[in-house]
Amino acid sequence: MEEKTDVCQQQPEEVVLIVGAGPSGLAVAACLAKRAVPSLILERDDCIGPLWRKRSYDRVSLHLAKQYCSLPHMPHSDTTPTYMPKSEFISYLDSYAERFRLRIQFGRRVQSARYDQKLGRWIVKARSGDVLEEYIGRFLVVAAGENDQKFVPDVNGLDSFKGVVIHSSEYRNAAAFKGKDVLVVGSGNSGMEIAYDLFEAGARSSIVVRSTIHIVTKEIYSFAMRLMKYLPMLIVDNIFLFLCYLRFGNTAKYGLRRPDIGPMYMKYNTPVFPVVDVGTYDRIKTGEIQVLPSLTNIEGSMVTFSNGKTHHYDAIIFATGYRSTVRQWLEADEGLIGKDGMARNNYPDHWKGQNGLYCASLNHRGLRASSEDGLTIADDISKAYNLSEENQRSV
Ligand SMILES: Cc1cc2nc3c(=O)[nH]c(=O)nc-3n(C[C@H](O)[C@H](O)[C@H](O)COP(=O)(O)OP(=O)(O)OC[C@H]3O[C@@H](n4cnc5c(N)ncnc54)[C@H](O)[C@@H]3O)c2cc1C
Repeated sequence: MEEKTDVCQQQPEEVVLIVGAGPSGLAVAACLAKRAVPSLILERDDCIGPLWRKRSYDRVSLHLAKQYCSLPHMPHSDTTPTYMPKSEFISYLDSYAERFRLRIQFGRRVQSARYDQKLGRWIVKARSGDVLEEYIGRFLVVAAGENDQKFVPDVNGLDSFKGVVIHSSEYRNAAAFKGKDVLVVGSGNSGMEIAYDLFEAGARSSIVVRSTIHIVTKEIYSFAMRLMKYLPMLIVDNIFLFLCYLRFGNTAKYGLRRPDIGPMYMKYNTPVFPVVDVGTYDRIKTGEIQVLPSLTNIEGSMVTFSNGKTHHYDAIIFATGYRSTVRQWLEADEGLIGKDGMARNNYPDHWKGQNGLYCASLNHRGLRASSEDGLTIADDISKAYNLSEENQRSV
């Protein structure tokens, strides 16, 4: 939170300040606009949805059918593909911001936010180039995303690795890896898809699978989401697993052990999501993509694994996730944000703190949470805002 210069430009007071112009920030702002509550979004980057535009690989598409990935008050059109490619989703976000005439200040990196008890206002400092700006708001919504800072685990000898080392957020496509030995570390959705992307483009790809995973198809996943409306989770999970068994057989035979808990239970109660197969599984079965256990050591271009085997690699791609950075700038958490930068309380009590502080989609629930939290937060703010306006009028 070090400040480069002393220049601090005071901005006019706002009703609601929102940090982040990803899907969650846009959803809150649009829901507020529908309720005639003004808001201003502060976005560090120069565009809407930079995670999708700049930090995700080319072939990524949404894992769930479009009806589970829309933001409030603007369903996807009939002509939108069921599983939206990222380009379509980005256009959707742009149209969304335009439709609700959202006010967004780009290039504003929020550096600190604190509640001033005397003023009864949030004081937010944001850097724009060399200038430090001070924003004041009655309400503050943290929509800064749970996928903010790339996370790479400590691996013994990683510094000595001779080849390319990148994080999945820097991976766009396999063009540079054709004919190369590439190790993907991490078997979440990104890792499994990148391993397949590499294979398809002619790289020899291997993937490190350390923990248990639920490998599913997007069709079964979306069907299970539909069933959740009518059946208890336990029954949905049993149907889900049965359908997955019909499609994949016993995945443990190929090094992909399933967790003891069901996929839906896992989705709603843990930070881990089921892995939507894009073709990786069949390549693992044929041995064209190799599954390896955790890595223990790297020396030059040789990587040793916990089974004692050592292999040569030209590149390593860490698909090992992200961390929230909210605690780096939010000086008071008002009971809302835990040490890990995520919502402290479990769903559905995760979104509201004290003194007009809120957080959106900081609870590992993806776009569904962006939408639900947008509606809930805007409802709550509009009630408090209208009440205070009425009180002022009656004075
Ligand atoms: C490759 C990939 C694929 C995914 N696929 C799916 C999927 O299919 N379905 C699904 O539900 N979810 C998916 N996700 C999860 C996805 O992150 C969320 O669903 C969605 O982007 C969350 O939106 P958000 O607005 O909460 O966060 P983000 O999209 O991360 O937006 C947060 C915004 O806050 C800004 N920001 C952060 N800190 C500051 C600061 N200090 N000052 C100012 N601005 C700041 C960031 O620049 C960013 O624009 C995927 C994630 C990745 C990485």
